[in-house]
Amino acid sequence: MLAMDYRGPKRVRAVQKPMPEIKHPEDAIVKVTRSCICGSDLHLYNGNVPDTRVGTTFGHEFIGEVVEVGSEVTKLKVGDMVLVPFNIACGRCSFCQQGLFGNCHESNPMATAVGGIFGYSHTAGGFHGGQAEYVRVPYANFGPTVIPEGMDPDDAVLLTDVVPTGYQAAEMAGIQPGDTVVVFGAGPVGIMAARCAWLFGAGRVIVLDHVDYRLEFVKHYAPAEVYNFKTDMQDPVLFLKKQTDWLGADCVIDAVGAEAAGDVLQTITGRKLLVQAGSATAVHWAINSVKKGGIVSIVGVYGPTDNLVPIGNVLNKGLTLRANQASVKRLLPRLIEHVQNGVIRPKELITHRIPLEEVADGYRLFSDKLDNCIKPVLVMDS
Ligand code: NAD
Ligand code: ZN
Repeated sequence: MLAMDYRGPKRVRAVQKPMPEIKHPEDAIVKVTRSCICGSDLHLYNGNVPDTRVGTTFGHEFIGEVVEVGSEVTKLKVGDMVLVPFNIACGRCSFCQQGLFGNCHESNPMATAVGGIFGYSHTAGGFHGGQAEYVRVPYANFGPTVIPEGMDPDDAVLLTDVVPTGYQAAEMAGIQPGDTVVVFGAGPVGIMAARCAWLFGAGRVIVLDHVDYRLEFVKHYAPAEVYNFKTDMQDPVLFLKKQTDWLGADCVIDAVGAEAAGDVLQTITGRKLLVQAGSATAVHWAINSVKKGGIVSIVGVYGPTDNLVPIGNVLNKGLTLRANQASVKRLLPRLIEHVQNGVIRPKELITHRIPLEEVADGYRLFSDKLDNCIKPVLVMDS
């Protein structure tokens, strides 16, 4: 079968690989029809995730058709069209029992933090992902969800990650009616978080990024007020303080993650910022721009050893930090309803449809923000 293949930082390609096989009676094999490239894949692509092995297939946002099931799979049958949450969760360990499906113990027992994730290095269990024609799906009685009749496949594929992650970012932010909500990052996740902030009663939503076309998109899509911290030449924390009577924002969401830790900082304004080079700008800005006693919701992904929180400010401001991988399966019932009712319109984020053969172009477009790329999807059934 054809599959994406990681060769090292910024080197990916499509190659022939062996077909996946059922390894456990609860496995299913899914023939992939759509598979997105995610901001989380860029951490792998850039070589920033420990134990990302050459030869791995990435891809944790996919849908497809069930073509084979193990002997203990009772909830799915061959021919079902499913959307598959990016978390690999057993559904029965003590963490899954609490709804913490991103922290499943059984799917990644060697890890102290994250549960299993498709195509996300050996840190997240060493599973191959769905940027391939076929993929093995463990715990098939729990994770995969039959796509409702009539749902557009482009909407379905974004329900595997982007929609639940954006929604959980807003949920964790503890938004109260009328609150001013700030979102760092206008990638697909930040865009969705800004959209969802309104569902929790936000009175004002402000999104910051340094990529104009993304800000332009979120301005209309969420809708949101936007701020480009590169061209507007003003410290974002100062800007946000001015916007909020010097009190700070009620809730702040970090939808950036580790990207901000490196070269982005050097490209910002050339002026002295509130943080030191090498520390993550987004999480610092979030902590420094939220009001005293406020909540910072972090869905941007950081590595297991990243240590970037200015703890003194957290303590002295009395902040609450909430962070996690999205618990996709927990949120799916209400989000499917929101998509069916048109409250959330995920497919509008998809800007590029790319054949699997051209996966390297997809990564380049998305990573380098070329051709107004917001969300690329690999399409296998065209
Ligand atoms: P993306 O890379 O497309 O978007 C990130 C955006 O942040 C870009 O538009 C970039 O220009 C902007 N940015 C960079 N530095 C910034 C800064 N200092 N302040 C404000 N904006 C800045 O990625 P995405 O797909 O939108 O994902 C965003 C983050 O969410 C990534 O870290 C990804 O790994 C993470 N993620 C988390 C989960 C989860 O379950 N927690 C799920 C999916 C994605
Ligand atoms: Zn993702």
